Amino acid sequence: MAVVLGRKSRHDITLMRKAGQIVAEVHALVKEALRPGVTTLQLDEMAEAHIRKSGGLPTFKGYHGFPATLCTSINDEVVHGIPSAERILHEGDVISVDTGCTYKGLIADSAFTAGIGAIDPKVQALLDATRESLYAAIAIMKPGAYLEDIGGAVEDTCAKYGYGLVKQYGGHSVGHKLHEPPFVPNYRTGERGPELKSGATIAVEPMFNLGTEAVYTADDDWTVLTEDHQPSAHFEHTILITEDGSEPLTEMLGTPVW
Ligand code: MG
Ligand code: MG
Repeated sequence: MAVVLGRKSRHDITLMRKAGQIVAEVHALVKEALRPGVTTLQLDEMAEAHIRKSGGLPTFKGYHGFPATLCTSINDEVVHGIPSAERILHEGDVISVDTGCTYKGLIADSAFTAGIGAIDPKVQALLDATRESLYAAIAIMKPGAYLEDIGGAVEDTCAKYGYGLVKQYGGHSVGHKLHEPPFVPNYRTGERGPELKSGATIAVEPMFNLGTEAVYTADDDWTVLTEDHQPSAHFEHTILITEDGSEPLTEMLGTPVW
């Protein structure tokens, strides 16, 4: 059965662009706040306040029971870490922050990883490569390309640097729901999948590990960790396929207004 990649209306896209800007503003605020001594709960409270003040809703809160606005994943945590007053950031840590915002029923989803103070250059290189793979995918996303090309761009970037490519998790169509089909693997599967068409909105989200690609889920049933406990990085944008290319809806535009 052919996999369908839904296309959004102009009105939906207008709302997703607004949701995307709120997410970008949250990320700018959180990045500013990253320093030793800050707890992940403080980051979460700041994010929720900004989303609600902007007329949005925190998409993740209550999603399959997830208790918070942000996923905050530190060092060897890959994704889905739960913000907590007990989790204090330290110099040299890296943190992945993933945010979803629902604006008038439409959703944008984005993530970044950043260091706290000075970090190991080896870990900074991991962050840089993961981000590079996201932009390599964005560069090939246009009408006429196929879903498989996204995974190919991410996989090739990962292979170039020799990092562990997380395969159990990946991107997804997004808009009316946080996770709409199809799933978007970060590697080639051998099936080219649906063609990318204008109006499609896809969250692409590579996750690279410094060591092994193997991951497991902690006893909290949420936090995903690297099996060898080496650091991991995660970058994500919600991307609109346009008439002749693509547009990340969760990149900061212009000057922040706060
Ligand atoms: Mg996300
Ligand atoms: Mg996502």
